Amino acid sequence: MRLKVLLPVLLIVLAGVRPAAAAPPLFTLHEVGPGVWAAISPDGSKAGANTGFVIGEDGVAVIDSFQNVDAARELLADIRQRTSLPIRFVVNTHYHLDHMIGNGVFAAAGAVIVAHRNVRAWAHTENLKFFGPSPTAANRALVNGIVLPSLTYDDGVDLYLGNRELIVRHMLGHTGSDSVVVIPDAHVVFTGDLLWDRHLPNLIDASTKPLLRSLDALATQYPSATFVPGHGNVAHLPDLQAFRGYLAFLRAQVADGLATGKRGQALVDALAPAFRSQYGTWGFFEHFLTPNILQTAAELQGKKRLPGGRVN
Ligand SMILES: [Zn+2]
Repeated sequence: MRLKVLLPVLLIVLAGVRPAAAAPPLFTLHEVGPGVWAAISPDGSKAGANTGFVIGEDGVAVIDSFQNVDAARELLADIRQRTSLPIRFVVNTHYHLDHMIGNGVFAAAGAVIVAHRNVRAWAHTENLKFFGPSPTAANRALVNGIVLPSLTYDDGVDLYLGNRELIVRHMLGHTGSDSVVVIPDAHVVFTGDLLWDRHLPNLIDASTKPLLRSLDALATQYPSATFVPGHGNVAHLPDLQAFRGYLAFLRAQVADGLATGKRGQALVDALAPAFRSQYGTWGFFEHFLTPNILQTAAELQGKKRLPGGRVN
């Protein structure tokens, strides 16, 4: 069961697993507001996750840095095609390696890495779990090589690129280290992995109840925003509500299944058809359905282990 949970991440991390002929582009760039760019990474790309950047009056801020140094270098080159202003900040939306491995590329270009304090606390330890119970020396070196944030916060921080403001705020739900980055003058919100657009999410570290509250807060505060999710395409309120609907469905179905006494694979087998009929077309469905059900069952039973040794 543990290997099944890890497999999707490993498939994404290990570049050589895919047939070369089918290799998708690392990412595609979309200008989602004036000087605000989303880098959308297609499923199966070795870039691994979405990122983006904001060009301000006197500098650039980058949001997340991919799970792959080549993708980070390509993003830096794309930024350099658009501006010669300094890269001043990288904000990591959470500690998962698919959002952090490229940090060093931007740190070397002069950026300060900024994130919630738990990103710094967990990046070199909790990321090892994505390689199973016995990470190789190369896996350990990859994780230990992640450039950590040098500026951390508890609740949030406001960053300024001249007069251009970025509001960075900690929100609960995906890992305990998550933040959103709001660019008010462009009505854009980078959500990190608090939002997955039409994809089943990785819930390995998630607490779905506070996650639902965070999604509701985003919907209330930014109903007309353009959302850049951690995975999937650029999104808007109906997409956020669809993701919220999935999580609410998941919690309700798992609670009903547990109430009938089913556990483990029997629980998954009983619930899978209803999920398939409603969400079978979503990305990562085959990868994440079983772990989503089992991890939510653990959460609802108060047995889920969370980063930092907490139990949900
Ligand atoms: Zn991610």
